[in-house]
Amino acid sequence: MFPSLVTEHIAKVRQQVEQACLKFGRNPLDVQVLAVSKTQPAEAIRAAAATGQQAFGENYLQEALQKQQQLADFPELEWHFIGAIQSNKTRELAENFAWLHTLDRLKIAQRLNDQRPAHLPPLKVLIQVNISDEASKAGVAPAEALALAKQVMQLPRLALCGLMCIPKATEDFTEQRQAFAQLAALQADLKQALPTANLNTLSMGMSSDLEAAVAEGSTCVRIGTAIFGLREAKH
Ligand SMILES: *Cc1c(COP(=O)(O)O)cnc(C)c1O
Repeated sequence: MFPSLVTEHIAKVRQQVEQACLKFGRNPLDVQVLAVSKTQPAEAIRAAAATGQQAFGENYLQEALQKQQQLADFPELEWHFIGAIQSNKTRELAENFAWLHTLDRLKIAQRLNDQRPAHLPPLKVLIQVNISDEASKAGVAPAEALALAKQVMQLPRLALCGLMCIPKATEDFTEQRQAFAQLAALQADLKQALPTANLNTLSMGMSSDLEAAVAEGSTCVRIGTAIFGLREAKH
């Protein structure tokens, strides 16, 4: 993908977010665009960063670490891990990311807490919720989210910031909204049960369901294809 296209695509995505905000009464400043750069080369991230994009999401640890090294001249970049977590890789996660969107087990949380370096702020974490109850998807069941949230809140080197979901893929706008509304309702329940927690982040919405996610309160849309183009299935 040519850098100029990435620039154009980012502008378009930001415009889409703004239009959705206008339509659904949201403040555009409350919706962050996370550029999902998995399988994309460091040059594509460089092109996005040149437009002011700072938050990047990666799914594969070794690939992400390599790109972080290649982009060491951009220390302002904020790295979010949004992939499946292997328990023997938690140290590298704890040392190299600002955010983790896919927490779904206490054991992983404890390891990250122990391994988060003292010179870094607490690792910001979101609990992934399997909102459509799909056997193939990671995430806790909605009914288990509160128990995990309480346990994570006890870990001083983690900062629990909210929830994340990847709903069942559908092109139906109403169905898209229903799934996101469920995550928003769960967030409201957790906020009520845990009034001292700061659970304001709702990571939901991708290239194909961004508008529905914004309609239901997303504060972070994770956008890959609409920014960087189609991915090669290399993993
Ligand atoms: C790949 C991925 C995205 C981006 O998906 P697009 O459809 O390319 O926008 C968002 N979130 C997660 C967790 C992903 O793995």
